[in-house]
Amino acid sequence: MVYYLLSFTAELENLTDLQPVGGCDDPTYTYYLKVKCERCGEISPKEACVTLSEEVPLPTKVGTAHLVQKCKLCGRDGNIQMIAGQGRPLTLEQSQKEEYSNLMVFDSRGFELTGFSFADAWKAESLTGTTYDIDLSTGEFADYDEKGEYPVGVSNVRYKFSVVKKQHRRGGKDTFI
Ligand SMILES: [Zn+2]
Repeated sequence: MVYYLLSFTAELENLTDLQPVGGCDDPTYTYYLKVKCERCGEISPKEACVTLSEEVPLPTKVGTAHLVQKCKLCGRDGNIQMIAGQGRPLTLEQSQKEEYSNLMVFDSRGFELTGFSFADAWKAESLTGTTYDIDLSTGEFADYDEKGEYPVGVSNVRYKFSVVKKQHRRGGKDTFI
């Protein structure tokens, strides 16, 4: 198994706390991932879709995963398990420093994660406290804050995958570094 940490950043204009609408552990937010077979290197032509609230049984019938998929070329079975509780909203301060914020950890078996697509169903707050629903599928968002009388926006969204290790913390939850 390999743990992949997905983190993201963006240029935020008068906005903060960019995250999926239901928070970083939004049970209905769908992640669109590009996956590559670890055995034969085939990149799946279709993006894999995983959602925290949707699990399927493993082929062994023991346990579940968020995605079970067979490589179309070599037939190898793989699966992806999402690990909640690791994400944080992207703040304006992080954005200004071009820092990445953690979003989700994936425990991937049989597949390498090579891409992620930003989709609909994000939100952020303006400095006056107005919440905006944001569609990041085009990578950009622009609006106007009536209360604060300034433009708000998101642009230059970027992501990265890092291979991380699980750290057990006594009495606390696992962390991934
Ligand atoms: Zn394969």
